[in-house]
Order: sequence, then C-alpha cells, then structure tokens
Amino acid sequence: MEFETQVVYGANTLDPATGALISPIYLSTTFERCADGSYGGGYSYGRSGNPNRNTLESALATLEQGVDAAVFASGSVATLSLLQTLKPGDHVVAPTSVYFGVQQMLEKILGPWGLAYTLVDTTDLGALASALRSQTRLVLIETPSNPLLKVSDVRAVADLVHRAGAYLACDNTLASPVLQTPLTLGADFVIHATTKYLAGHGDVIGGAVITREINPLFEQLRLIQTVGGAIPSPFDCWLTLRGLQTLPLRVRAQSQTAQAIAHWLDQHPAIEAVLYPGLEHHPGHRIAQQQMAGYGGLLSVLVRGGQTAALRVAAQTRLFTQATSFGGPHSTLEHRASVEAPGTQTPTNLLRLSIGLEHEHDLKADLDQSLQSIETEP
Ligand SMILES: *Cc1c(COP(=O)(O)O)cnc(C)c1O
Repeated sequence: MEFETQVVYGANTLDPATGALISPIYLSTTFERCADGSYGGGYSYGRSGNPNRNTLESALATLEQGVDAAVFASGSVATLSLLQTLKPGDHVVAPTSVYFGVQQMLEKILGPWGLAYTLVDTTDLGALASALRSQTRLVLIETPSNPLLKVSDVRAVADLVHRAGAYLACDNTLASPVLQTPLTLGADFVIHATTKYLAGHGDVIGGAVITREINPLFEQLRLIQTVGGAIPSPFDCWLTLRGLQTLPLRVRAQSQTAQAIAHWLDQHPAIEAVLYPGLEHHPGHRIAQQQMAGYGGLLSVLVRGGQTAALRVAAQTRLFTQATSFGGPHSTLEHRASVEAPGTQTPTNLLRLSIGLEHEHDLKADLDQSLQSIETEP
C-alpha cells in the first residue's frame, strides 16, 4: 500500500461491535479477565496497553518502515526513556546543536546519574568518528536539526556508528516520514515529537520511538514505558491518529510554501541569511536532496541588525503568531535564543519560522510588512 492509503487505514480499524468507521476512544483503565485468568481481549491494564495506543504504535511503525513503536506522553520523555535504557558508564554522542531539552537532559539528569556523553557536530563525519569510544552505545542525530536546520548524512553516520558497535537514533521530527525514513537509511531508532507534524494540529503533546528491529534496547524501552508509565492518554492517541490521516497532504503543502518563502527571504534586504536545506547554497543541500523527498515546513532566518531587530520583527507580524512549537496549521515564529538555556549555540538574531497551511501570498505580505518596520528604523 502507498503512504497516503496507509495513513488512512492505519489510523482506523473498523469497530467490529458497531461498524463505526472511526475508532472509539477506550477510556477504561482496566479489562476483564476470563474464567481461566487470561485476558481474552489482549488487554489487562491501561498503563501496559490500550487499544488506541496500540493502534497508534502500529500505525507509526508502518509509516516509518519499522517493526514496532513505543509512544510516550511527550517527545522529550521519548528521548529520555531511550537514553534511560543505557547504563551508568555507557557513552552517548549527540549533536552540538541538539534540541536544547535533550542537552539539558544529558547535562542535568543523565550526566549526574553516570551516563557519559560527547556533543559533536554530526554533520562532520571526521569529528563524529573521533568522538566514538569503546563504551559508546548510542549516537543521537537530528536531521534537519532544530532550529539550525543542519543536515546529517544518515547513511554515512549509520555506517560509522555500526562499525563502532553502537546504535543510531535519528530524531525525524522536522522531516516526518513523508519526507524521510531514517530506518531505511540504516538508523536503528527513529524518535518523534508527535506534538509537531504527526499530530499536526497544535492540540496534543506526544512522542514516539520506532525501531528497525526488536533489540535489547527496544525491549528495555518497552519496560520503561509500561513500568514507568509516561504514556499518552487514549484521547491523545486518538487525536494523533486523527492528525496522521492528513499528514502527507499537510507536510507537502507546508514544504512547498516554505520553499517559496525561503527563496523569497533569501533575496530580502532585511535578511542576512536563510537556513533551509531546500536552498542550493545550504551546506547540507546535496545530502538532503538524496535522503529527503522535500525539505519541510520549518526554516530559520538571521535578521540584519542583531537581536533588537529580530525581536522587533517577531513583535510586528500579524498572521505569524509569536509562539513556540511548530508543525500546526497556523504559522508561528519564535526568537529561539531567548527560550533556550543560557549558553545556547543559537544566534541571537535568529528567528525560527514554522510555515502553516495559510496561502503563501498572505504569509509573504505579513513578513514583508514586519521586515519593513526594521528597514525604516534609523
Ligand atoms: C519539540 C521537539 C522535541 C520535544 O518534544 P515535546 O513533545 O515538546 O516534548 C524533541 N525534539 C525535537 C526535534 C523537537 O522539535
């Protein structure tokens, strides 16, 4: 089956009891045991499993071309749980520009607990190779990365990591499986903040880890998920499944509009640089062209005039809402440096733009009027 068909039928199983086309939300926390003590319906307790959650997990495994998935209450706890599968003394490599929440996890939660880690530019294969140690169990990459839009070569990184005897996890939040399937390029795990494009409507927080094969790390991850219980609610799962059905249509539209806006901003006098892998001068363009089927709906710009100018632009937009997160139908923009932890790598004149589902002309007009506000400034 093609992707467009999979998203529709993977998200809905015809309810055999009623014939309902849309799955009901199973709120029950507990499930009846048979006279012989077995669980006839395959479920025992809502922390260990729930029909909506299981449907979401199998839909995500299919879309990412993996064999299984574990879903979580947020993208952050999905990553945290994967890192918790490791033991004190193990070593992790992550990008210097990794999502700042993950950097905080490593520094403030898992580092003190005994997990060693190295942050390195994963777009530089030489630097990555020299960061690998005999204790390295897991390498984390994010491509394209948030918010610098750096592109790592998944196939080349996977080769290096596997030769060192480690696993590769790729955060695929920015691309979504519409544009990129890292498991087919050699990654062992895909991580998602389903909060963003997968759920797609800005109304549910969630995360997932999808695995290429059942291995000891995934088994431990399942244990952490069901014993710890950082699970999404049945309604969260239902909302995410509802969003998935329009995923390819949304992501392609957002990608196309983002590409047009990136080209236009690239020529704009108030903009110093546009970071978007769909632009030919982007350092990762060629790799992105090989491993992606489009460049996504997220881009960052460096505004001329430093932080003051960037903050002024963010305050002047009318259609773009100044707000965090991305992947929803509404375009948003954000000054990332001021929400990230002190010591962030993000330039202070950077604005991250999430392109929604509005018409390109309206979005350009809005950006243009807000950029003019800094050009006319003395
Ligand atoms: C948003 C995001 C996360 C965190 O997801 P939450 O659902 O907000 O916890 C992790 N990684 C990336 C790349 C993200 O964009």
